[in-house]
Amino acid sequence: MKNIKDYNLEDLKKEIINIGEKGYRAEQIFKWLYVEKVKSFDEMTNLSLELREKLKSNFSICNFNILKKQESSDGTKKYLFDVLDGNAIETVLMSYHHGYSICVSSQIGCKMGCKFCASTGIKFVRSLTSGEIVEQILAVEQDENIRISNIVFMGIGEPLDNFDNVINAVKIINNPKGLNIGARHISISTSGLVPMIYKLAEQNTQCTLSISLHATTNEKRSSMMPVNNAYNIEELIQACKDYIKVTNRRISFEYALAKDNNDNLEDAKRLVKLLKGMLCHVNLIPINKIENGEYTKSSNENIIKFRDYLNDHGIVATIRRELGSDIDAACGQLRRKNLKEEK
Ligand code: SAH
Repeated sequence: MKNIKDYNLEDLKKEIINIGEKGYRAEQIFKWLYVEKVKSFDEMTNLSLELREKLKSNFSICNFNILKKQESSDGTKKYLFDVLDGNAIETVLMSYHHGYSICVSSQIGCKMGCKFCASTGIKFVRSLTSGEIVEQILAVEQDENIRISNIVFMGIGEPLDNFDNVINAVKIINNPKGLNIGARHISISTSGLVPMIYKLAEQNTQCTLSISLHATTNEKRSSMMPVNNAYNIEELIQACKDYIKVTNRRISFEYALAKDNNDNLEDAKRLVKLLKGMLCHVNLIPINKIENGEYTKSSNENIIKFRDYLNDHGIVATIRRELGSDIDAACGQLRRKNLKEEK
């Protein structure tokens, strides 16, 4: 049975009309799911008993169970959710002065194989459905009794490798009658699937696009990220320029600094050359060492030097605050935990 949270409002209306009901019922259902946040059709008390029964026989409602919740000393919280088919995913809640941000997973496992990322080396199982993406937000909001204001697609998986479901989830998240979180508060991060960047540009969403760049030469980037063998730096940067032309939106480049790998002045110089004149921002991330990983964090001194060089040469760069590293919830530390292994 189809999970009702997989539908955006427009498609839900069609479904509801298909089962012989009035379209406006879809708006009522949306409100129950995303404003009232109920977990069952029985709680939708402005719908007739007959309609509730009809809904029950046509749709399921996916409600995740929390398998594990860990809290960092900095207040970051990591959830392990049971996605109800024997698999589990991780979601991270971060608290900032401007509100709550959530880092959602888009797939169970990841195919991209980035050498520095903990999601690599675990089997790719499948992409998440739109409803499963949205449910991460709902489940955390309910558990903490909060309203989340920012969403980043930076958990497990490559969002642009699950394009349709991610875009559909954005529609649900975005809808004023749904979760009502503005597109400008949603970031989609990609390792650099160039054709999908063009496809995203066509959607003309106001979401922020983040590009995981991490290196300035093809040799280095290919050694860190196999995706670079398919789409090299030149193609990636061209796609970014074209994306900006179409959307007029600033791109955020992620650059994880690893000691003696991509953190010297030559790298900073090449980065300035690559990004000069682009409507962009660079997010410097002190790389998080993963189990058996070959990369270690750059020194604070180097990170600051790197940032200052960029800023002094016309590229806006900031250092990302590290949150949740003590509970393995920092950048790139998420990994799918298999339920069977957990027991
Ligand atoms: N697949 C997408 C989104 C998931 S990763 C992407 O590649 O963008 C989210 C961000 O964390 C990416 O910028 C990724 O490169 C970065 N990241 C992964 N492992 C990391 C690590 N060990 N230390 C710091 N950042 C890491």
